[in-house]
Amino acid sequence: MSFTLHGIPVSRGIAIGRAYLIAPAALDVDHYLIEPAQIESEIERFRTAQQHVHYELETLRADLAADAPSEMGAFINVHSMILNDAMLVQETFDLIRTRRYNVEWALTEQLERLSRHFDDIEDEYLRERKADIEQVVERVLKALAGASVALGDGVHGACDEMIVVAHDIAPADMMQFKTQTFQGFVTDLGGRTSHTAIVARSLGIPAAVGVQHASALIRQDDLIIVDGDHGIVIVDPAPIVLEEYSYRQSEKALEQRKLQRLKFSPTQTLCGTRIELCANIELPDDARAAVDAGATGVGLFRTEFLFMNHKDRLPEEEEQFGAYRRAVELMNGLPVTIRTIDVGADKPLDSMSGGDAYETAANPALGLRAIRWSLSEPQMFLTQLRAILRASAFGSVKILIPMLAHAQEIDQTLDLIREAKRQLDDAGMAYDPNVQVGAMIEIPAAAIALPLFLKRLDFLSIGTNDLIQYTLAIDRADNSVAHLYDPLHPAVLHLIAFTLREAKRAGVPVSVCGEMAGDPTLTRLLLGMGLTEFSMHPSQLLVVKQEVLRSHLKTLEKPVADVLASFEPEEVQAALKRVMLA
Ligand code: PEP
Ligand code: MG
Repeated sequence: MSFTLHGIPVSRGIAIGRAYLIAPAALDVDHYLIEPAQIESEIERFRTAQQHVHYELETLRADLAADAPSEMGAFINVHSMILNDAMLVQETFDLIRTRRYNVEWALTEQLERLSRHFDDIEDEYLRERKADIEQVVERVLKALAGASVALGDGVHGACDEMIVVAHDIAPADMMQFKTQTFQGFVTDLGGRTSHTAIVARSLGIPAAVGVQHASALIRQDDLIIVDGDHGIVIVDPAPIVLEEYSYRQSEKALEQRKLQRLKFSPTQTLCGTRIELCANIELPDDARAAVDAGATGVGLFRTEFLFMNHKDRLPEEEEQFGAYRRAVELMNGLPVTIRTIDVGADKPLDSMSGGDAYETAANPALGLRAIRWSLSEPQMFLTQLRAILRASAFGSVKILIPMLAHAQEIDQTLDLIREAKRQLDDAGMAYDPNVQVGAMIEIPAAAIALPLFLKRLDFLSIGTNDLIQYTLAIDRADNSVAHLYDPLHPAVLHLIAFTLREAKRAGVPVSVCGEMAGDPTLTRLLLGMGLTEFSMHPSQLLVVKQEVLRSHLKTLEKPVADVLASFEPEEVQAALKRVMLA
């Protein structure tokens, strides 16, 4: 039966393919397809893990104190029964045999199915047994991890007609998909500028987030259409709908090919003002896509993605240096702006001292995030600073600091950069002594207290994603408030316009590297506010360039002033329309 779901569009385009469902628990384990010849050994791995858990439970039973409450014995009995229950064991084997899932994936998939059944049960006692099943599965997974041999990372063997459907995907997990070919993404949760959405956008494939209940309503292998322009997901489409979307898909492919023609033309407005279009990257090799799209530099290298998926430790200086140097060399002389680690909120690290703070912090987005974390871990911060500075000996590097708000944070950061330089001098290591240091303007306090920044730093970069989040008090990853996340809110526009104007007056270069910079419907507005340097995902670069080439700054002056003078939403929209038509 065909039906349509609505969510938040985060990455443009149309994808048509088969649903590839990923259960939440499955995201914590490797999932890949096995060869038919591996089926029996995969089942054997399950049996070995099952025996291990059986032994664990029996040891627990033997260790029970004589006066332990009788529930303890009963609880072990229930867990032993679940461990051998056909609903768990045989069905998992079935998934291994018929779908050729690796055992961890099969087990978590079966857990997900059972959980759904349990959710429908009215009897509260029985419904609560779901937690027991989860605990048993966790034990088996742990045993499998202990016994596992080189399973490889992430998702393997997926094919390129598949569309990932998941309840939620953490940014770190999303990174796994960088090396896989999927047609699109659909998640139940998420907001337009959640880091998951940002990574999906960087992959340049259609995606919709906040599509509530998608992972419960869509079944494995369902044929689905993802309309990434409108955030629509059509399940089991009628032939005529499929035909219409296939046509639109080919039209879009044609548009993309036409845009390629703009790649080599200089980026300037009709009145001849040169505009810099730089790229946002997450991994060093993304620099290739940046060069391919004609970026004139990297405006934002989000280094925290190098630190994620490092389960046991953070990368050493040499490893970081290698990554930064690689990006710098791939950019072949063009500037690379390397942002120091921005962890916390929706990007926690797997392991680090104080990692528990993320779990216990009531408001992690307001907690020990970004530069606040770096300053609380000076040795780790110095390691990163040395690695970045060393990369500056191989090309043009700038250092960008996230989430600064206070004068003393800027001063402490600059002191540590001086210290890192001293340490490199002592070790006789080369770096660019004039490397520029800039700040992200992404907290309203930073924009309002701009003179603090203008006096101390070489350049600024406006992070509109967080600036909107913190100005409007909207969690950017929370789909329940996503409708209130508004880049066109007068307060947001005023902070951006003020920052651009004051930086220009002080002669301090300023760019925008938040998602607004890559939104072609906002290009003219930003140009009219005086922006001359944009940084965005490479996939957005040519469509934004097309807007720049069509714009004349003089004609934008009046309608952009009207937008800024408007407070009522309808007036803002009407003035914005005039900006688009100018
Ligand atoms: C921003 O906040 O706009 C930004 C570019 O940084 P991030 O999205 O990584 O928080
Ligand atoms: Mg930010």
